[in-house]
Amino acid sequence: MTETVSNNSGKEPIKASELDPKFKYELLKMHGSEKILKCFQCGTCTSDCPVARYSDSYRPRTLIHMAQLGLRDRVLKSDTLWLCAACFTCTDRCPQDVEVASVIRVFRNLAAENGCIPQVFKEQAASLLESGYAYKIPELRIKKRESQGLPPLPKGNAENVRKTLKGVKFIETVQKPAGEQPNAQ
Ligand code: SF4
Ligand code: SF4
Repeated sequence: MTETVSNNSGKEPIKASELDPKFKYELLKMHGSEKILKCFQCGTCTSDCPVARYSDSYRPRTLIHMAQLGLRDRVLKSDTLWLCAACFTCTDRCPQDVEVASVIRVFRNLAAENGCIPQVFKEQAASLLESGYAYKIPELRIKKRESQGLPPLPKGNAENVRKTLKGVKFIETVQKPAGEQPNAQ
């Protein structure tokens, strides 16, 4: 497994204009990423991450390094951010107690607040709000169940789901138009 330090979105060199020195200080104040500056780049999180093992691009260590450098846009617009399976292996093994999985969650929340959510998750969210299920069961499959004498699937309670998610700005967040700039300056 190899790891590039320069960036997480291709091989483009970093421009000084991309660096946001305030980003790391904002992260220090957020629940979950308070210890991000304790990372000394040992690479344990990446080497033990089950997703990184099978991905050419997902590297938690690199995402943390980019955040430390102030590469706000590259972190928040990175598609690889959404590959994390939240298994917490990195959190258990980090010698600096950085709570890597929580840091990734903070990055995702910030990305989502800025409209940077991959289409597949937007569709899951829309389905959840509409049917109560993250995955919409295709009509064809429902008919097949009927033809084989299987009982109907339980109905999702979309109204309850909407009510629950109202308090956490979920609906507004997932409906934000794509492409808003993460750069908060
Ligand atoms: S394991 Fe911890 S200290 Fe090592 S690179 Fe990952 S976050 Fe940094
Ligand atoms: S929580 Fe995410 S980053 Fe950490 S080991 Fe699991 S998949 Fe990798």
